[in-house]
Amino acid sequence: MSQQNVGSLDVEAIRAEYPILEREFDGTPLVYLDNAATTHTPEPVVEAMSDYYRTSNSNVHRGIHQLSQEASIAYEDAHDRVADFIGASGEREEIVFTKNTTESENLLAYSWGLNELGPDDEVVLTEMEHHASLVTWQQIAKRTGASVKYIEVDETGRLDMEHARECITDDTALVSVVHVSNTLGTVNPVAELADLAHDHGAYIFVDGAQAVPTRPVDVEAIDADFYAFSGHKMAGPTGIGVLYGKKKLLEEMEPYLYGGGMIRKVTFEDSTWGDLPWKFEPGTPPIAEAVGLHAAVDYLEELGMERVRAHEEELAAYAYDRLAEEGDVEIYGPEPGAERGGLVSFNLEGVHAHDLASIMNDHAVAIRAGDHCTQPLHDKLGVAASARASFYVYNTHEEVDALVEALDDARQLFA
Ligand code: PLP
Repeated sequence: MSQQNVGSLDVEAIRAEYPILEREFDGTPLVYLDNAATTHTPEPVVEAMSDYYRTSNSNVHRGIHQLSQEASIAYEDAHDRVADFIGASGEREEIVFTKNTTESENLLAYSWGLNELGPDDEVVLTEMEHHASLVTWQQIAKRTGASVKYIEVDETGRLDMEHARECITDDTALVSVVHVSNTLGTVNPVAELADLAHDHGAYIFVDGAQAVPTRPVDVEAIDADFYAFSGHKMAGPTGIGVLYGKKKLLEEMEPYLYGGGMIRKVTFEDSTWGDLPWKFEPGTPPIAEAVGLHAAVDYLEELGMERVRAHEEELAAYAYDRLAEEGDVEIYGPEPGAERGGLVSFNLEGVHAHDLASIMNDHAVAIRAGDHCTQPLHDKLGVAASARASFYVYNTHEEVDALVEALDDARQLFA
């Protein structure tokens, strides 16, 4: 198998669009395996944003001059493009731009959660939720008197679906589940969970921060009520995220932030709200970032999301197998296959994950070490931290080899 063509992506051609990948540290080429934290930005995205600043920069929805009209159209189009990308037939009205996944979750929690939850309600999370969900719903539950339940993760790193069926009851108001776990790599059965939630009259929120960048996602096929993700994990810019919501539900929700750009009529006594999605986007929004996100979606669709998924699965399987051969590496999450996304979290016996990441850095291999914002899950796994290698469209088998080879240095120094 060619080392440059993983799945059916032309990785060599792809890499040429990412100048940052040419960086070297002390003569050693960068191996960037921290994509679950943030992916890099290809030239077409950088170019689209630069071009916007060079030619159309202006504020949106508040000017009748030509530049403002151009900026407004670009900003609105970005909503439509994202809607199309994730299968939201309600188009821009169902797509709220936020700062990131975390803000999308907070928007839902403050707008819907604070107003709708009460002491008789339960919010069902999973033990593998990112802190963005877990902490947010914990706090909203405290303020509303609602309770929080967790669907257990079994020893294979998958959700215990029998336990899910026990947890989700007529008392459930919301199920909040991560689509692809950023720690275990598990791809969760979100459509099945959506059915379960709906059977009990509950809503489902899906955290798609690791899913939308790496696989085709159709929010309507899942029947998600709400779905969130971030631009910076999908070849797009930082500073922009998305909250998808079914139009009817977004219509019923109160704004989370107030100010200019989201109102219909303001008097000294009261105000009314503008149309979707603007009612949730007060103030000057991330306009250049929306242009960048639009370009990132174009870029990913051109690569083909099925091909991106195949590439992710193949590299994750290769990394999993190579690490598993080592004998002194503990890997977390399901075995390679359709139920594992493109990341591998692990620990090297006798070496703290932070020390490992630091040694990797000496080899110019960038990985993440820590709890990956899933502290309770790490407690359950019985470790304080893990190392995580995560892959994107530009990664190669050789880069996985570099990761595995650097383990020897760690053994010599620490084990
Ligand atoms: N959810 C998951 C599964 C994630 O992996 C992340 C980021 O690592 C987040 C939520 C939060 O994303 P952001 O930092 O862009 O808000």
